[in-house]
Formats: sequence, structure tokens, C-alpha cells
Amino acid sequence: MAVRVGVIGVGVIGQDHVRRLTHVLSGSRVVAVTDADAARAHEVARRVPGATVRATGRDLIAADDVDAVLVASWGATHEEYVVACIEAGKPVFCEKPLAPSGDAAARIVDAEVAAGRRLVQVGFMRRYDPAYVELKGVVQEGSIGLPLLMHCAHRNASPPPYYEAHMAVTETAVHEFDMVRWLLEEEITAVTVLRPRPSRHGGDVQDPLLLLLETSNGVLVDLETSVNIRYGYDIRCEVVGEDGTAELGPVSPVVVRRDGALTAPVPPDWQGRFERAYDVELQHWVDSVTAGEAIGPSTWDGYAAAVIADAGLRSLGSRDRVPVELRDKPDLYAKP
Ligand code: NAP
Repeated sequence: MAVRVGVIGVGVIGQDHVRRLTHVLSGSRVVAVTDADAARAHEVARRVPGATVRATGRDLIAADDVDAVLVASWGATHEEYVVACIEAGKPVFCEKPLAPSGDAAARIVDAEVAAGRRLVQVGFMRRYDPAYVELKGVVQEGSIGLPLLMHCAHRNASPPPYYEAHMAVTETAVHEFDMVRWLLEEEITAVTVLRPRPSRHGGDVQDPLLLLLETSNGVLVDLETSVNIRYGYDIRCEVVGEDGTAELGPVSPVVVRRDGALTAPVPPDWQGRFERAYDVELQHWVDSVTAGEAIGPSTWDGYAAAVIADAGLRSLGSRDRVPVELRDKPDLYAKP
């Protein structure tokens, strides 16, 4: 039987996930939606046969016809809904960030440990991107030797109107915090945030930033976040090993030579670049709900990313190197 999914928050990515669950993936159907903007919830429900609108996230989680929940409201609301899902024994997919602080994420860890089983998958979709999966394979098979350095860039053409300085760490770099832990299979132990000359396009928001991440095995990772790069959405990652390097290839397989110029398209935004990753990620979640076992990015992964973001925010304010201190990992998360 298809997994009956309820979606909390049907803004940009919530609507995209509703479309994906309804028209692209198999094994699930959206039966309920809710949003702080009730008119938006009704508009989305109208497009999905059989979907109803629930007044609040809590009502949706409690509904008998909802087997599993997808949380795509803003980060500050995630803790309440994810903990309510855990207490109701319902599997939940939570968009990143799991929570806006390490303390909030730790409370979700506590709730899941108390429940005694994994119910949460966090929306770190880069783990499902075919190029990143291949890059990790090359690094982990050892053909470039031990990793020594990583050079990463996370560039957006322009930020949304509500973008604030701290979001470069909590909303943007958080993807790399998880990706680095996953790809290298080690923890990030310290963060330093450096501020180059600001772009005139940034207004009040300091942009770009350069983050220096240190890992438990001594790998140094530099990460550029630029949210006013103008030319498109560009994600880069190169791993420097003892015997060679490995990096993400160009996003477009086609290069055009014409009128004295050599051009290749750059995706305008994250939806274009990671379309396939979102599809694979969510199909993986639906399949794991059907199988009764959560196996994607875990609450622990969401907690680790939130603690790294806390350290990044402190460094953004103080310009100091800030150590990352994780609590002991519960046995529940021992399996990779
Ligand atoms: P968005 O367009 O603002 O959508 C969020 C929606 O949630 C809005 O409709 C908002 O209503 C609603 N909402 C706010 N508080 C709520 C509550 N308490 N209960 C129910 N609905 C509530 O934002 P978005 O860009 O879709 O982002 C949503 C989440 O997804 C964020 O955590 C973001 O970081 C994450 N995200 C992840 C990726 C990724 O690559 N994995 C990409 C984009 C976004 P109002 O507008 O009325 O406040």
C-alpha cells in the first residue's frame, strides 16, 4: 500500500516535494498539507487528488490517515514538528536544517533515543547527487591516497529578499558541513570564518565569506560562500589527496563553440542543479518508510551540522577559530 504522506509547509521546496511525491516517485501519495498561509495550503491541495488541508502541523501529525510526515516549513519550526512525529511514532523527513541550534537539535536526538528507534531522515540531498556519490567513491577507494585538503565553493546568483548574514552559515554552508562529514567519513572539529572585501551587491550582508573547516584526521577544508555571484548557481568541490586529486566535473556535459566563444550553461538555481538528487533522496525515504527502517541522513547528522553551524556563527561574530564539541554519540546512530 502507498505511504500516505502529510506535508507541513508548502512554500518553495514543500510544493516541489509535493509535485515529486505525486508525479515523479512511486510508493507514496500526499493525503494532507498544512501551512501557516492557509490560502497557500488550499491552493496546493487543490492540485493533488484526494489531499485535504489540516489547520495546523500538530493536527496533520495526529491524523489517522497520515502514515508519515514531510516537514518543509522554516527551520525554527522543525523541532516542534519532528519531536511530535517521534512521539506519535511516525516517520518524518525534515528539510535541512534539522534545527536552528545545536541545543534544539540535541533535544530531537534525546526524543528519538527515548523512542528507541530511528524515525527521522534529514534533507541533506547532496548525499544522493550522482556526482557527489561518485566523488566519494573515488576518495574512499583510496586511489588518490589519503585526503589532505578540500576546496569547496557554494555560489548563488542572488539571495532571497529575507536573507541575513547568519544564513550564509546556517542555511548555505550547512550543506557543506554535512557533505564534508559524509564524504570524508570523519568529524569537523573547528571552524574559522574569514571576511574578504565585501561585494557591492551584498548590501548590509557581508558576502562572500571564506570558511576554514578542520577535521578529526587533520584535513583542511576551505569553503567559499557567495550569494551574489550573479552568473548562476555553482557548486564546486575538489579533494586533494597524497597521490592525486578528484573533483566534481562541469555541470553541463555540452560545450558550445560559436562566434569566437566557448560556452556551457550554468544552472540558474539549486532546483536545476540538484533535481535528480532530490528525486533519489525522497524515493529513498519513501522506500525506507515502506521497509520500516530509517536509513538516510540521521538526527545525529542533523545535530552535528547544527553544532558546526553554532561554531560558525560564533566565529562569524568574533573572527576567532571556534572548536566544535559534539556530545557522545548514542548507540542508536552507531550504524553509518
Ligand atoms: P518558504 O518558501 O518560505 O516555505 C516555507 C513555508 O512554510 C511557507 O509557506 C511558510 O508560510 C510555511 N510555514 C512557516 N511556519 C509554519 C508553521 N509553523 N507551520 C506550517 N507552515 C509554516 O521556504 P522554503 O525555501 O521552501 O524552505 C523551507 C525549508 O526547506 C527551510 O528549512 C529551508 O532551509 C529548506 N530548504 C532546503 C533546500 C535543500 O536544498 N535541501 C532548499 C530550499 C529550502 P509563510 O510564508 O506564511 O511564513
